[in-house]
Amino acid sequence: MKTPAQARRIFAALEKHHPGADTELAHRNAFELLVATVLSAQSTDRRVNEVTPALFARYPDASALRQADPAELEALIHSTGFFRQKARALVGMAGALVARHAGTVPASMEALTELPGVGRKTANVVLGHALGVPGLPVDRHVLRVANRLGLVHSDDPVKVEAALGALFPKKHWTRVSDTFILHGRRICKPTPQCQMCFARSLCDYAHR
Ligand code: SF4
Repeated sequence: MKTPAQARRIFAALEKHHPGADTELAHRNAFELLVATVLSAQSTDRRVNEVTPALFARYPDASALRQADPAELEALIHSTGFFRQKARALVGMAGALVARHAGTVPASMEALTELPGVGRKTANVVLGHALGVPGLPVDRHVLRVANRLGLVHSDDPVKVEAALGALFPKKHWTRVSDTFILHGRRICKPTPQCQMCFARSLCDYAHR
């Protein structure tokens, strides 16, 4: 297990690869990011960004989305995959936002994860990027990169979120997650490109 000081050095090395890492999901407010994050499950950010301009023009807020015609909504999000399931989740989520939060997106993990179709990862994305509350989303890239580096030893996203949260200051949580995600997409892929990684000297996987 790495110490917080070692974790800081690793993060600094990865930040050199990915300065200013941020979510790649296009959004103008918390509602749009919540919808985009639900759509990103089993899809890519690029594909989601292709469908959201038309989607948000048609349904600009929770009140409009909760009344969406299922067939029309499904057609708009079809290319992101699992479109029936996602359409149901979006309408349910929008209905709950209107019923419980007057149509606004709540700024707490508890309230967000009580919305239909919203898990910890989605809640952390929205908290950290659109609501000013530190959040540490753990996706498959964060799991892979953090385990290889030796920062964590678990495939359980909840445990990994807690372990990384203890290693890094709260104010860095969202940037840590964004940086690890980009590192997992670009360099520490399933077949990692260790020879070009700035964190190689600090990485357990590279010294097996
Ligand atoms: S050295 Fe290799 S395994 Fe370690 S973080 Fe870099 S790319 Fe991933």
